[in-house]
Amino acid sequence: MKMALDKTLIVGNWKMNLNVHEASLYLHQLSHLVTAHRDVEVVLAPTLLALQSLSLQVNHRQFKLAAQNFYWRDSGAFTGEVSATQLKGVVQYALVGHSERRHIFHESDKDTRSKVQAAIRNDIVPILCVGETATERADNETADVIHDQLLGGLANITSEEFTNIVIAYEPVWAIGTGQNAGPTDVTAAVAAIRSQIKHLYGAAAAEAVRVLYGGSVTADSAADYLTLLGIDGLLVGGASLDAHGFSEIIKKAHHKSMLVGAERGGKA
Ligand code: PEP
Repeated sequence: MKMALDKTLIVGNWKMNLNVHEASLYLHQLSHLVTAHRDVEVVLAPTLLALQSLSLQVNHRQFKLAAQNFYWRDSGAFTGEVSATQLKGVVQYALVGHSERRHIFHESDKDTRSKVQAAIRNDIVPILCVGETATERADNETADVIHDQLLGGLANITSEEFTNIVIAYEPVWAIGTGQNAGPTDVTAAVAAIRSQIKHLYGAAAAEAVRVLYGGSVTADSAADYLTLLGIDGLLVGGASLDAHGFSEIIKKAHHKSMLVGAERGGKA
């Protein structure tokens, strides 16, 4: 799948919330609140159980779907697991290395690396999540943590593949806590991400990769992040569960794109 690089990407991670019926009602409600904009790509990550039915219900021009998780092998004796091969055609994106996977389910960098490769192999865009814990932040280790998670998650990727990879900077201490990361911290982390990718894979890869911010984003704070240098969109957890609030975030992304477009038009 070729990504639309000039679009602002807004991803809603519903985590382990909403059953199949509730997910369908939510999609119905959101589809009436949101106009499909050419400059914004909206991705929904519902429970795995609802992906199949939502993929039949969804207007694919309006919303794309993402898996919250999957196993990296394509098939075989792995009871209870779902592979990227099985998700192919149902989802366009998949979260990889979300902090809840890393910290609650002890997923390693090797796991995230295998998943990034499995996603790409199956034509699914991986959204690789990276970010430091509160302790790592207090110890001034943010850049080192990002470095290790990128190195661990992206080994064996070719520079051409960065057009189909998304990195989400999600400071662990900001996820689900209501504690927003400040603009200086986010800008510095995003610069560190691009600089590391440039160092490892070259300038074209660093420019092509899309970088999101995630961590307690709400309709009120969305615009502050969307206007930061190097940010291509948002990964939204809690605030994506309310269709009205999430539609406001999508509207902010559209307004941001219009402003940027007008600025570029003015300079031309
Ligand atoms: C997330 O789940 O990736 C996330 C950023 O959650 P929240 O917006 O609730 O902090």
